[in-house]
Amino acid sequence: MTSLDDLPIRDDLRGKSPYGAPQEVVPVALNVNENTHPIPEAVAHDIVARIAAAVIGLNRYPDREFTELRDALAAYLGHGLVREQLWAANGSNEVLQHLLQAFGGPGRTALGFAPTYSMYSLLASGTGTAWIAAPRDEEFELSPDTAVRAIREHDPDLVLLCAPNNPTGTPLSLETIRAVADAAHGIVIVDEAYHEFADPGTPSALELLPDHPRLVVSRTMSKAFAFAGARVGYLAADPAVVDALRLVRLPYHLSALTQAAALGALAHSDLMLGMVDEIRGQRERISAELSRLGFHPYRSGSNFVLFGGVDDPHAVFEALLARGILIREIGLPNTLRVTAGTEIETTAFLEAIAAFAPNRHG
Ligand SMILES: *Cc1c(COP(=O)(O)O)cnc(C)c1O
Repeated sequence: MTSLDDLPIRDDLRGKSPYGAPQEVVPVALNVNENTHPIPEAVAHDIVARIAAAVIGLNRYPDREFTELRDALAAYLGHGLVREQLWAANGSNEVLQHLLQAFGGPGRTALGFAPTYSMYSLLASGTGTAWIAAPRDEEFELSPDTAVRAIREHDPDLVLLCAPNNPTGTPLSLETIRAVADAAHGIVIVDEAYHEFADPGTPSALELLPDHPRLVVSRTMSKAFAFAGARVGYLAADPAVVDALRLVRLPYHLSALTQAAALGALAHSDLMLGMVDEIRGQRERISAELSRLGFHPYRSGSNFVLFGGVDDPHAVFEALLARGILIREIGLPNTLRVTAGTEIETTAFLEAIAAFAPNRHG
């Protein structure tokens, strides 16, 4: 057996680590921001029926343009969007990869505001794009001034805004997004993976598309839609941006089974999203209870909470894991991240974390 170091691997990949959230079989998995509620049974039956029908036709390649799916996604997003503005792939990670393949590459730069989603820098290195990590304000917030200053300083080819931001949960104002879209010369991607969990009435960057032809809004069915295992992500942008992505995708990248499953889920979007309010409630419960215990939860518009005030994050992570509760160490000092689960899962987490509370003696 040889080792990775001995292989003639690309120089820019040498020494990098792959995406690696631990995958462990535990009773309470609150580490990768999944929707922990299963798919409603009525929807599952419809999806199975659609997949069964698609199986008969698997001798043929699928619709390369996934036309029906793009129509369904446009209808779901609203905002007057039409199919020419929609694109989809196997998870929004692949959507983001298509964007970096088309608009990044050797000699080009992509900028994000750290700490942010760890896949951005990995996708950048995979496509030979230089990654620039610009700073945030206090409490991981991002003001229009701070964001625009970084854009002016670095003049990146791509900007990745995560709204709300993973792993911090921080909501991002439409004001900051607009300021970035106005200041940047290149492509501005707003990753709204958690948008459905934002407080009701929170505007989407989709509102800015008509005036910003280089703006891209990406979404996923992995989180609010409870569809992480199916691998479906999508974006809305100007039709010309979508045309650019056709140059880099693999032919027939979305299988007929994936298209059938996604159409089934979208046909029942109300049911699929039925748990979002409940999850938002559990998120608020986590934030309130962690505050009461003396931890420092950061502001969250997502289905997870990042909290500081943890003396030894690794020891707490291990102690919870020993009790069958998996949360996330994200490498920020004295912090841990937890996904809002069902009420029972959330209770299990809150009871376990109380043993490590700064206020436990108070
Ligand atoms: C979970 C997540 C995604 C979604 O990834 P998929 O490939 O669609 O499962 C995208 N962006 C962020 C910030 C995420 O946290």
